Amino acid sequence: MKKLENKTAIITGASSGIGEAIALRLAEEGTNVVLAARRSERLQEIADNIQKKTDVRTMVVETDVTNKQDVEALVNKTKEELGAVDIFVNNAGVMLLSFLKNDHVEEWEQMVDVNIKGVLYGIHAALPGMLEQNSGHIINVSSVAGHEVFPSSTVYSATKYAVRALSMGMEKELSKTGVRVTNISPGAVDTELTDHITDQDVLDMFKDRSMNPLESDDIARAVTYAVTQPDYVNVNEVIVRPMQQK
Ligand code: NDP
Repeated sequence: MKKLENKTAIITGASSGIGEAIALRLAEEGTNVVLAARRSERLQEIADNIQKKTDVRTMVVETDVTNKQDVEALVNKTKEELGAVDIFVNNAGVMLLSFLKNDHVEEWEQMVDVNIKGVLYGIHAALPGMLEQNSGHIINVSSVAGHEVFPSSTVYSATKYAVRALSMGMEKELSKTGVRVTNISPGAVDTELTDHITDQDVLDMFKDRSMNPLESDDIARAVTYAVTQPDYVNVNEVIVRPMQQK
């Protein structure tokens, strides 16, 4: 029997990159997976691919994590169709790097909404059920930028430091409840994340950058490690970065 057979995981931001890879890895461990993001067609393609490779159940729920009702509905639909939520991966995020002097205030707001409020809505929707069942695992995807601040990452880092603070507080508050918390901090991973950057100064800076980034699956394996430990083991923080990233 696989380690996570008959469990159910919700993954936000599952329509690409790290979230997609986490969904596939968890499915390979036997978990039923619920894929959430805004691009439902891409989610459906990914679900179909998982269905070809595994025999778990998959669900697609179009979700904007900045909308509290959407995230509540995501958890409620999952419970109706698949029963309890065992794992909730708060992965959806945006990294709209910019220099403060260029004043991209709408992008700052978007990062706060997706990266912080989105995670809070995930906790709000998933935690009560986990506390009732005395078990569960919440994974929050922060970043190396939640440990260090780089030029142009000031606001993004602020949101990822906030994610890490949430993880640290949850870990302490929930330690006697059976609900485990893992903060995952990736370094540079080759995904669509940088495609949405609009600050020309940042784009120019990136032209001179050469580094072998990680693949999404490198992070998915870290998540799998955390959720497949025995019940008494709480993996609180995993940092994974490319060899060449300082
Ligand atoms: P991608 O851009 O490939 O994935 C981001 C995901 O977030 C997409 O599935 C996107 O789906 C989803 N998303 C964005 N906004 C919303 C929203 N409002 N509601 C629901 N879903 C949303 O990037 P990554 O896979 O790299 O990013 C995943 C996480 O990893 C992020 O939290 C990111 O900050 C973090 N991270 C990434 C690193 C990297 O180098 N790639 C490094 C450190 C951390 P859709 O557009 O369909 O809604």
